[in-house]
Order: sequence, then C-alpha cells, then structure tokens
Amino acid sequence: MNCIFCQIVAGKIPSEILYQDEKVIAFRDINPQAPIHLVIIPKRHIPSLTHLSEEDLPLIGHLVNIANQLAKKEGIAESGYRLVINCGKQGGQLVPHLHMHLLGGRQLSDILG
Ligand code: AMP
Ligand code: ZN
Repeated sequence: MNCIFCQIVAGKIPSEILYQDEKVIAFRDINPQAPIHLVIIPKRHIPSLTHLSEEDLPLIGHLVNIANQLAKKEGIAESGYRLVINCGKQGGQLVPHLHMHLLGGRQLSDILG
C-alpha cells in the first residue's frame, strides 16, 4: 500500500486528525494554502472523482456535510470558505486518493484556475 492517504487512514503516517467516523477522515493539510486548510477523504481508496459509482453518491454528500461541520468548528462558516475536489493531472490532483479541500480564513481569489 503506497498511497499516502491510505497510510494516514491506517495511522502509519502521522497527521492532525480533526474528525473521523467509519467512512471518512479529516486532517490538516501539511502544506496549507490558507489559514484554514483541511483535507476530507473517504477511508476507502477511491482514486478520483472519475472512479465514483452511483452507490458512492451518498458518500460525497457525507464528505460535504462533514466539511460544513468542520467549517463551523474552525470558525469560518460565517466568513466563508471553499470546497475543492481536484480530479486528474490537468485538474491539479497530486494525491491519487479522492479528497476534498476545505479552504478559508482569508479572502480567496476569484480566479478558479
Ligand atoms: P491535490 O493537489 O488536490 O492532490 O492535493 C493533495 C493535498 O494533500 C496537498 O494540498 C498536500 O499538501 C496534501 N498532503 C500531501 N501529503 C500530506 C500529508 N502527509 N498530510 C497532510 N496533507 C498532505
Ligand atoms: Zn488511498
């Protein structure tokens, strides 16, 4: 198993875990792009958005719900935040394990790409 995020799930790579349940885990990004930068992932190894099936759709809703809860906990629900899922090489995905970024705590650029 050489997937970085699977190793975080397995506790083999240390990370600052902020939330976990049987399906998802959330931790602080090691190279934050904003004052608040969290990564929310499914525990199951799904390589990217293109690998999602119909049955996985509730899982995506769950990831968004957890991200919203963490935004509240981190104090950025009112000021605003951004959820990002990069997919594939040109989408800027570096870690091939599906993940959602939660970014906030500063004014984010209105340029998306
Ligand atoms: P992406 O470019 O969408 O694949 O984002 C991958 C993210 O994972 C980047 O923001 C990295 O900083 C972050 N990352 C990589 N390794 C770790 C790690 N060991 N702990 C926390 N975040 C990580
Ligand atoms: Zn993985």
